[in-house]
Amino acid sequence: MVEIKGIEKFSSRDFPGHISSTVFLGGCTFRCPYCHNADLVLRPETVPSMAADYFLSYLDGRKGWLEAICFTGGEPLLHEDIEDLIRVVRERGLLVKLDTNGSFPDRLEALLGLGLLDRVSMDVKAPLERYREVTRSNVDLEKIVRSIDLIRGSGVIYNFRTTVVPGLVGKGDVVQIGEWLSGAARYVVQQFVPQTTVDPAFLAVRPYGRAELEAIAAAARPYFGQVDIEAP
Ligand code: SF4
Repeated sequence: MVEIKGIEKFSSRDFPGHISSTVFLGGCTFRCPYCHNADLVLRPETVPSMAADYFLSYLDGRKGWLEAICFTGGEPLLHEDIEDLIRVVRERGLLVKLDTNGSFPDRLEALLGLGLLDRVSMDVKAPLERYREVTRSNVDLEKIVRSIDLIRGSGVIYNFRTTVVPGLVGKGDVVQIGEWLSGAARYVVQQFVPQTTVDPAFLAVRPYGRAELEAIAAAARPYFGQVDIEAP
């Protein structure tokens, strides 16, 4: 089974309306300089893995009140056998949310087709022409576009999300993303949090304040059904 690198035991925010736990998986296809899961992305082998038995007993011990599991990373779809892990969760009657960066549309399509996902959140890192610059990765842009199309057509609850980072991703980028994804149901403006960043230079970047986040969200509102701000 996929190696689990951590569990956030209680989250009321990751799967709105449900009591959920968040499961972290290691490795990622991107190298976003502001990423706050640097060890998971750059050195997943140094992060202790959880035994499969422990995870099963974790799920069984919370039967009756835990309602959902959110899979995040890193990039969860990097793991070819994630379907097995999701099935273990589904067999226990729990809802499943997936966070993805859109790098694996084939795996995403398979999971959606099998009805194994209840909610999907995809990070849209930048306008398409800035994707490689912002992620510092040789992104296959067609895969990003295909993942977006799959999610929009899937019928599951979804949102797209952009982390805004002063000097790297700002209001102008969000407006361009809005024009690109216009008509999508829900969009989230996420505040950058400077902790254990992939590029240590980003530790010195001061995040946008509340007023700036509100202004960015306001600029996105004409394009989406709903726009929210995520900030610690
Ligand atoms: S921010 Fe997300 S997509 Fe970017 S490196 Fe970190 S885990 Fe990967």
